[in-house]
Amino acid sequence: MIGIIFGPPGSGKGTQAAKLQEELLLNHLSTGELLRAEVAKGTPMGNEVGRIMAAGDLVPDSLILDIVRSRLPEAESGTGVLFDGFPRTVAQAVALDEMLRAEGHGVGFVLALDVPEAELEDRLLRRARLEGRSDDTREAIAERMREYRKLTAAVLDHYRHESAPVHEVDGVGEPAEVFERIRKALGGISSD
Ligand code: AMP
Repeated sequence: MIGIIFGPPGSGKGTQAAKLQEELLLNHLSTGELLRAEVAKGTPMGNEVGRIMAAGDLVPDSLILDIVRSRLPEAESGTGVLFDGFPRTVAQAVALDEMLRAEGHGVGFVLALDVPEAELEDRLLRRARLEGRSDDTREAIAERMREYRKLTAAVLDHYRHESAPVHEVDGVGEPAEVFERIRKALGGISSD
């Protein structure tokens, strides 16, 4: 099973992805986490990535695809993969479709968490205070939301056109409540 969890910054996708990964026994592949690990290493590439992330911009497709390509075989070796924060652009989605097709796989579900923008801004500023995340300044938040609306909404359309099951789930509420909605939306999906 290959799944994609989708959501604007602050929509709680990291929390829901962790629950879903456990429920469906999927390997969780978060490009944001992989990038933050690269930044923490302090390599020249990590420093460049850190600047891009702090500005609220997307990291170039070629770099993201290199990272995913190198991690996919290991992630695919189990019962499946849950992509978190990837693909963010149509070019990434097309490249992922090709990678999966080469292995005889396809995207089993796309889950999009839906949270109104005002609520997202509140959540992100709260998180920035708690975690001291340098990419969560007001300007960076506004930029990431613009990026999200412009590019990633197109990725949902891509999957609708490809006839992959796309589920939009209301992401407002307690994490457990949101997860119940996700379970309902995914219906019969199980780890086997
Ligand atoms: P996330 O943890 O998914 O919110 O990602 C944090 C930041 O990492 C984003 O704002 C982007 O700068 C970068 N990033 C993560 N995933 C991608 C991706 N698939 N394509 C481009 N940039 C990404």
